[in-house]
Amino acid sequence: MGDIPFFDTPLRAVKGVGPQRERVLAHAGLLTFGDLLSRLPFRYEDRTSFRSVAEATEGEKITVAGELLNCRLRWTGRRGFKIFEAVVRDDSGCLLSIWPNQPYRQDTLRAHQRVVLHGQVVRYRGVLQLSSPDVEVVEDESGDPLHSRRIVPVYERTGTATSRMQRVMVHDLLARLPDEVDDLLPESLRASHGFPDRRTALMEAHFPPPGTPAVLLDACRTPAQMRLIFEEFFLFQCGLVSHRLRSDRARKPLVPVVDDRVRAAAKAVLPFALTPGQRGALKEIVDDMRRPRQMNRLLQGDVGSGKTAVALLASVVAIENRQQVAVMVPTEILAAQHRETIARWFGARGYASALLTGSTPPAERREVLAGLREAALQIVVGTHALIEEDVEFARLGLVIVDEQHRFGVVQRAALRAKGFRPDVLVMTATPIPRTLQLTIYGGLDVSVIRDLPPGRVPVTTTVRPDARRDETHEFVRQQVDGGRQACIIYPLVEESEKIDLKAATAMADHLAQDVFQAYTVGLLHGRMTPQAKDEVMRRFAAGDIHVLVATTVIEVGIDVANMTVMVVEHAERFGLSQLHQLRGRVGRGAHQSHCILLYQPPLSEEATRRLEGVAATSDGFAIAEKDLELRGAGDVAGTRQAGMPRLRVGNLSRDGDLMIEAAEAARKWVGRGGPEAERLDAFVTTRWSRQFGLMSVG
Ligand code: ADP
Ligand code: MG
Repeated sequence: MGDIPFFDTPLRAVKGVGPQRERVLAHAGLLTFGDLLSRLPFRYEDRTSFRSVAEATEGEKITVAGELLNCRLRWTGRRGFKIFEAVVRDDSGCLLSIWPNQPYRQDTLRAHQRVVLHGQVVRYRGVLQLSSPDVEVVEDESGDPLHSRRIVPVYERTGTATSRMQRVMVHDLLARLPDEVDDLLPESLRASHGFPDRRTALMEAHFPPPGTPAVLLDACRTPAQMRLIFEEFFLFQCGLVSHRLRSDRARKPLVPVVDDRVRAAAKAVLPFALTPGQRGALKEIVDDMRRPRQMNRLLQGDVGSGKTAVALLASVVAIENRQQVAVMVPTEILAAQHRETIARWFGARGYASALLTGSTPPAERREVLAGLREAALQIVVGTHALIEEDVEFARLGLVIVDEQHRFGVVQRAALRAKGFRPDVLVMTATPIPRTLQLTIYGGLDVSVIRDLPPGRVPVTTTVRPDARRDETHEFVRQQVDGGRQACIIYPLVEESEKIDLKAATAMADHLAQDVFQAYTVGLLHGRMTPQAKDEVMRRFAAGDIHVLVATTVIEVGIDVANMTVMVVEHAERFGLSQLHQLRGRVGRGAHQSHCILLYQPPLSEEATRRLEGVAATSDGFAIAEKDLELRGAGDVAGTRQAGMPRLRVGNLSRDGDLMIEAAEAARKWVGRGGPEAERLDAFVTTRWSRQFGLMSVG
């Protein structure tokens, strides 16, 4: 293998991997021995003993082994819908097996093959059968100890690389594992957790020793599996901790002071008394700003908790210290709204502010850029337009990123780079479970606002089938008659954006002409020009539009206190956090507000739990935890963009506890000195970014 370390060896060197299979594997991100070995089986089958088909009971998942008989493709009444079926026979009897809509099965499955089937037993028209089971043909190798008579690993199929092929490859690699496998996990840490060494862990996680309890394997809780998960998390956390240590050492050019003059300025702009939560968060932020190291803080607070006020008071501190402030938000609507608040709050103090978005006219843009470069402007609000190359600041001291889950790591870094070590405050209304926080924002300090401004009346939430739409519209009418405003949300799924857009437009027309004739109906969707959107929002905020029909572009940040009804159509298509966000758009004023979730039956079990989840609580943190549990980390409110590491072994919704332990361990080990810690440092500098697919942290 020459000089290439074992784990970095290209997969081409595995028996049976030619250029074509190499491409298939590469497509799944599998390039090296290490990549393949890090991909743990997604389940295991105990083939030391199979269930006999006579024992099959309805509703159960079983693994059986036997001979295939009567394979055939059956046509059904429905056009184009075919069912492949076969009978599997073992010593105890026969069981029907069906694969609806999988005609390609006929290419690989034939009578008299010996197979192992794994799947759900269902009863259809009185007949017990296996429904779409996984199949593995074991014909020629019924005696091959790799595929039978043991606990067998089952890998997720990738392209044409079946589970079985992967099993052969992994087995081949494990047989070639060097006697000494590099182990970055410090020995004492390994021992204190009772983890096996890396070599043993790899062997046993792929090919568990006989007698390993299935429940542990399925939960990924054997010592071997846990060790590999922990190792991955630990190495990841070492990178975060090390980045954090480095940035803590960097000194910022100007450390703001807070004296009576600054305090008076802050007091003067504030139109209301802060809530205790806001006060606590502000204190943490300002304390950070007064330290010589750069602030890197995440401000979490539920929708409507008043994060903007906190951010603007922090801005006063920066501006009174002759620094500039940049506020980046995800949409033009939100930018315009923040700009208005800023003008209202700061105008009287003489701070100069500006708006910079993609649709700022060229002449105005030139003026804004000059103002920022010459420090004539103290604060600018904008969208992505802020990170364009020619935007330069004279003294950027504070960077604020609102609704930050909409931005990626790269964008945040780009804005930060416009200043020399500016303080950074990122804000989110999507509360993030602790494990995710540790993963995405490991380098950040966190402040949380847990209360809401006084006088808020909790929003009522009801879940109804869409057959009750008329009644819902009647309710909207009553509210509008009472002087309130309403919003009706349509989901816009990316793949079918055009169709949905048409549906939303058609629905707006229908509502305007047939349902709410007496009122003004407005339409807001993502394909409108920013100017057109702004115009609609302006009219809605001014009360000229009574009922706003919108796709989810309204989700982010909009603040119309007179809106008291939020109707969500096809609520079953939305994620838990998303529904919570939408609900957060109402209940901002003194009037009782209502959120009505209309769904189209039948509801899947998961959708039912989601809708019940939103209705049951208005606590954003509880909802975030539930969302993580239901959907997995990758789907929680844009975590992928925000900089999710590529985790191969661990799974955040399953292994959160290990991430927390790994973070604690990393804090103890990074920079501690000694050969083991030094090897960790070397890993972080040379391999960390590539392994986790992240450019940098923060
Ligand atoms: P979010 O945290 O969702 O960004 P905002 O900053 O938009 O919340 O605040 C929501 C609304 O509550 C705004 O209209 C704001 O003016 C108002 N608000 C914020 N803080 C207070 C407070 N302490 N007292 C009264 N109203 C407040
Ligand atoms: Mg906000």
